[in-house]
Amino acid sequence: MNSLHELLIEEMKDLYSAENQLLKALPKMAKAASAPELKEAFTSHLEETRGQVQRLEEIFEELEASPRGKKCKAMEGLIAEGKDIIEEDGNPSVKDAALIASAQRVEHYEIAGYGCVRTFANLLGLQSIANKLQETLDEEGAADHKLTELAETIINVDAENADDDEEAEEEVKPARTSRSANGNVRKTAKAGAA
Ligand code: FE
Ligand code: ZN
Ligand code: FE
Ligand code: FE
Repeated sequence: MNSLHELLIEEMKDLYSAENQLLKALPKMAKAASAPELKEAFTSHLEETRGQVQRLEEIFEELEASPRGKKCKAMEGLIAEGKDIIEEDGNPSVKDAALIASAQRVEHYEIAGYGCVRTFANLLGLQSIANKLQETLDEEGAADHKLTELAETIINVDAENADDDEEAEEEVKPARTSRSANGNVRKTAKAGAA
């Protein structure tokens, strides 16, 4: 590893391996998700990922280098953690929240990787390559943002409600009478739990 140009190629090989592993993992994530919005987010990012693989292939062609020959061990590990979640049973919303946590680790890893290679390409004066890498970086950023939105709106709220219902049934039985009286379900459950 003697030049920034070599480093750029090595790092892009890592990303190429990572993206190809994701092509296999994302359909499984989509299948394991319960919320339709989350299924859709995984499926549409799978489509984007196909384009990202192609973009990398175009860049390698331009640099007259091969994209092959490296295995991204970090992505292998992240996907293995995702597989553990896929195989878990439990409350569907909690599981969705776990899938999101796993997927966001993947996106952040990709964001770090593409940010670096984009910067290297810029430093090397490879403007069109830097622009292509920036396009993928923007897609990864948008995917990450979308997952945050899903976590904040649908998924985690459902998971928390499921948790509250459980607490209401198991732990705060005395509060249940008063809760139908004042109709303030969540507040009563929270007070009981606290
Ligand atoms: Fe990607
Ligand atoms: Zn890697
Ligand atoms: Fe850490
Ligand atoms: Fe991604």
